[in-house]
Amino acid sequence: MILPLFFYDHLCLRKKAQSIESITEELRSLANDMVESMIHYNGVGLAAPQVGKLLRLIVIRDEFVGDNEEYRLGPPEILINPVLSAPSQEAEKMAEGCLSIPGIHAEVMRPSRIRVRYQTLDNRMVEEDAVGFRARVIMHENDHLNGVLFIDRISPDDRAKIDPVLKALKDKTK
Ligand code: ZN
Repeated sequence: MILPLFFYDHLCLRKKAQSIESITEELRSLANDMVESMIHYNGVGLAAPQVGKLLRLIVIRDEFVGDNEEYRLGPPEILINPVLSAPSQEAEKMAEGCLSIPGIHAEVMRPSRIRVRYQTLDNRMVEEDAVGFRARVIMHENDHLNGVLFIDRISPDDRAKIDPVLKALKDKTK
């Protein structure tokens, strides 16, 4: 089922999401609906607060270079209770967008690598060191679980530039 998105500046996007205690049928169905919705809306990531659920659950799609050197999106992945640690000192700027803030892209400085520990839908614990695009998507989605949006992390100049669009969005959301 495709879920309706919550847009900037809905209160739901500004709250801290709760840890998931157990993997229930309801959670499975939410995770699968989030995957379906992410694909439908053409996103590379979606966090539960973006569909109005204050739970620590994100879905992502990694990017990889295919046989003909073109960028392709990998299979959807579901990350439950992600915990980030060990950010690299090395950081890089990359343009980001967000399904909850349509029409806006801006460069965000983030660590190049991050360690992430999460649970899978079949109750396994996974720990990995993510780099590049994958690290970026995981950090962006994890921010959503803490009520943080990418526009909170952009330069004051960029923020000033997009302010009129943000204001229009905010008025629409009211
Ligand atoms: Zn987002």
